[in-house]
Amino acid sequence: QWVYVNGEHVLKDDAKVSVYDHGFLYGDGVFEGIRVYNGNVYRLDEHLQRLYESAQSIMLTIPHTKEELTDIIVQTLQKNKYRDAYIRLVISRGKGNLGLDPFTCGQPGVIVIAEQLALFPKKLYETGLEIITVASRRNRPDVLSPKVKSLNYLNNILVKIEASLAGVSEALMLNDQGYVAEGSADNVFIIKGNTIKTPPGYLGALEGITRNAIVEIARAQGYNMVEEPFTRHDVYVADEVFLTGTAAEVIAVVKVDGRVIGNGAPGEHTNKLLKSFREKVVEEGVK
Ligand code: PLP
Repeated sequence: QWVYVNGEHVLKDDAKVSVYDHGFLYGDGVFEGIRVYNGNVYRLDEHLQRLYESAQSIMLTIPHTKEELTDIIVQTLQKNKYRDAYIRLVISRGKGNLGLDPFTCGQPGVIVIAEQLALFPKKLYETGLEIITVASRRNRPDVLSPKVKSLNYLNNILVKIEASLAGVSEALMLNDQGYVAEGSADNVFIIKGNTIKTPPGYLGALEGITRNAIVEIARAQGYNMVEEPFTRHDVYVADEVFLTGTAAEVIAVVKVDGRVIGNGAPGEHTNKLLKSFREKVVEEGVK
């Protein structure tokens, strides 16, 4: 397996970065997770846009144009002969001294990893997930915007730890006011009747690319699709709940904090949205 590291493709085991890279020392950098379906990179423009905006927000200059990054991604896929893959694109602050100051860093690091990975086992798409809500809160948008997909994922890792200790594979984070924000690496949707809700970005959710695709699909299918704040109570009494993300795609949630959602199996609307999403990803990809 070939990995792109700072200008060259090297074998996975030879892929190395400096211990002085501030991406390693401080989580100083930005990243994207991108899917490739049947040789097409899904919504690459949107991912690159989000990457450049994340970088702009933390004053990190990406040392490539979007076209160059696209070429690097395509070359990495070709080198690995992958037609279906998950891509991790990482831009780190680069090598500096031990202090926090990012202005001591030289050239930003650029890494592209392509893997054939599935986030959840196939069976979970049939049975649905059991999740919990956790004590860890989403950081406030006025402190560090959740729109910045930074390398600093400690918040999300604490969520994952709480989930694992509780024996479940995913959990929901609330924001500082107690509204539902999102999962550790996915967005959340609830369905009641013909209305589908997902938390608005200002509450502290990353504006996921899968989330946006599902919002478009739901609107096209005639659902009353709204971005509105909601609480844990609304999740508990929903007909259906599901999560979305690049790695997870669309996955049903059937139990939240011990409360059974609907009839305890993935609901018809969730299944319909997942089916439409999977049909669309193949049509939409960029070659
Ligand atoms: N929320 C967080 C915190 C994430 O890390 C991700 C993953 O990228 C998502 C949501 C889902 O976003 P996307 O659909 O763009 O993968």
